[in-house]
Amino acid sequence: MASPHGTPSVATDLWREADKWTRAIVESAVDGIITIDESGTIEYINPAAERMFGYAPHEILGRNVSVLMKSEDSAKHDNHLARYRATGKRSIIGSIRELEGRHKSGRIFPFELSVSEVLVGERRLFTGILHDITSRRLAQEEKDQLLRNLHKRNIEITSLYRVGEIVRSGHDLSETCDDIAKAMWTAFQEPERIRARVSFDGGEHVCGPDSPSENRIVADIVVAGRKRGEVEVSHVGAPIAADSPFLTGERDLIDGIAAVLGETVERRDAQSKVIQASKLASIGELAAGVGHEINNPLNAIINCADILMQGLADGSKERQFAELVRSEAERIARIVRNLLTFSRQDREAHSPARLSDIVETVLSLSRKKIAKSKVDLHVDVPEDLPKLKCRSEQLQQVLMNLIINALHSLDERYPDGHPDKFLSISARPYALDGRDVLRLTVEDHGCGIAPVHIQRLFDPFFTTKGRDVGTGLGLSVSDGIVKDHGGQIAVESEYGQYARFHVDLPLDNGWTAPLARER
Ligand code: ADP
Repeated sequence: MASPHGTPSVATDLWREADKWTRAIVESAVDGIITIDESGTIEYINPAAERMFGYAPHEILGRNVSVLMKSEDSAKHDNHLARYRATGKRSIIGSIRELEGRHKSGRIFPFELSVSEVLVGERRLFTGILHDITSRRLAQEEKDQLLRNLHKRNIEITSLYRVGEIVRSGHDLSETCDDIAKAMWTAFQEPERIRARVSFDGGEHVCGPDSPSENRIVADIVVAGRKRGEVEVSHVGAPIAADSPFLTGERDLIDGIAAVLGETVERRDAQSKVIQASKLASIGELAAGVGHEINNPLNAIINCADILMQGLADGSKERQFAELVRSEAERIARIVRNLLTFSRQDREAHSPARLSDIVETVLSLSRKKIAKSKVDLHVDVPEDLPKLKCRSEQLQQVLMNLIINALHSLDERYPDGHPDKFLSISARPYALDGRDVLRLTVEDHGCGIAPVHIQRLFDPFFTTKGRDVGTGLGLSVSDGIVKDHGGQIAVESEYGQYARFHVDLPLDNGWTAPLARER
C-alpha cells in the first residue's frame, strides 16, 4: 500500500513485515492449513497439508476440497457449506471435529479440524487447521486391544477356575465333560458363533451351533500317554488369523482344559485301580474260604449223579434230570476252580518255560473250536524268545481265556464264516516302562468293547454274556495270574471293530529258585 505522496508509509512497512512473518509461520506450521472459498474451492494449502495429503500445490489449488475427504465426510461438508450459503449459519466454525482425510494414494487417515472464517475485502474465506491424529488413534486402538485382551484373559482364567471346580466336583466323567463343554462355550464372547466340544472314550458333548467349522482349535486329552479324547472350540464364520495374540490365549486355554481333564482321568483311574485291588483281595479271601467248603459237597453231588445215571434208561426223563444235575454241578465246580485260582490258593511250582510251547499247548486244545468257528488264525510266536520264569499252566489258562473271549466276540459279529473273521496271537520282546518284557498279544476283529465297559472288564463277575455262557471271571482271574507274574494286561479296542489284549510278562519277575508245590 503506497502513501498519497508515493512513498511507503510506516504502516505499510509494518504490514509488509507482518505479512512476511505470518507467511513464515503458516508455511512452517506443523499442522496443515487449507483455505477454501464459500463454494469449497481450495485457495491455499501450506506445506504441512501438502505432505499430509500427498499433493503438490499445482495439483490441488483450484480443486474442490471434497477431493481430500472420505466420501461420507465430503457429503457432510458440502451440506454445511450449502446451508451456510443459504442461511449464513456457520455451524462448522469454531468447534474442533474429527474427520477422515483421503491421501492422494487413497489411504484414509484421521485428522482433527478446526475452521475459522476470514473476511478479505468482500470475500468470505474459510481456513481450516488440520492436525493428523493417526498416531493418537493407533495408541488408543492399542490400548483398547490391550483392554480387550485383559478382559479375555480374565474370562479365560475364570473359566479355567470353573473347569477346576467342575473336575473337583467328582461327578461322573460324562457329566464332567458336559459341564466343561458348557463352561468353555460361555468363556467365549460370541456364543452364537462358538461351538465347544469335548469328546471322551467315544462320547460327544457339544454346546453351541450344530454346524462344525474349519476354524477350530483342538487339543488332545491324553491319559497315561494314550489319546482318549479331544477338547475343541470352533469359530463358526470368521477365519482365525494365525498370528493373532487372541489365538495364543485361546489355544492356551484349550490346552489347559485338555491337560486338566487328562490328569483328572488318570488320577481317577489310579484311584479306581486301588479300589479294584482291594475288592479283588477281599473277593480272593472270600473265594478261598468258600471254595474249599463247596468242593467236597460238590464232588458228592457229581458222584451221586453218576451212580443215579448208571441205573436209569437212556433217554428217560429221570436220566435227563440226573444229567442236568451233573452238568450244573460241573459248572459250579468250574466256577470254584476259577475262584481258587483267583485267590491264588491253587499254586503250581514255577519254572522257565517257552512262550511258544505255552501257546502251542493252548492251541492244541482250542484249534478244533477255532476251526469250527471258521476263524482265520494267525500265529506269530517265535521259538527263540527268551524263556519266562512262570507257572506255565496258569499262563495257559490266561491265553485260553483270551482265546475263548475272542472266539465269542468273533462268533457274535460273524455267526458264520467271513473273510474278516480274524484272530491273531503274536509275541515279541517289548520295553515296558524301562523293563524287558515279553508281550503276548491276542487280537480279534470281532465286535470290540463298548467304551463304558472297558473300565469294568477286570471286575470279578463282570460279564456281558448270557448266564449260561459267561461267569465274568475269565479276565479277573487272568489279571490276577499276570499280576502274580509281575506283569500286566492292557486292552485296546474300537467298538464294533476289534479288541486287542496285550499280556506283558517281565523277563525278570524276581522269582529265583523254583518253588515247591504249595499244596
Ligand atoms: P466272561 O467271558 O465270562 O463274560 P471275562 O472276564 O472273560 O468273563 O470277560 C468279561 C467281559 O469282557 C465279557 O463278558 C465281554 O463283555 C468282555 N470281553 C472280553 N474279551 C472280549 C473280546 N475279545 N471282545 C469283546 N468283548 C470282550
